[in-house]
Amino acid sequence: MKAKCVLCDQTHELDDKKFKTKQLRNKPVRLYLCDECNDRISANTIRRVNSGNFHFNKPYTKPFSQLKKELEKDG
Ligand SMILES: [Zn+2]
Repeated sequence: MKAKCVLCDQTHELDDKKFKTKQLRNKPVRLYLCDECNDRISANTIRRVNSGNFHFNKPYTKPFSQLKKELEKDG
């Protein structure tokens, strides 16, 4: 299936066998982010967290890798 990335507005052909694609098809409201943008955002977020200028609203107790997984799961 095809999906348009919400950030770069490029249409990507998604691998129908991938779990992410199936999720997107079952829930079309889910915002699609292409891998490029996803990586870029992750890198920026990690940089911001490490800079010390960024504060989570909730007390930060989870390791970032776990938080990232949860974000991916929730879309
Ligand atoms: Zn994109």
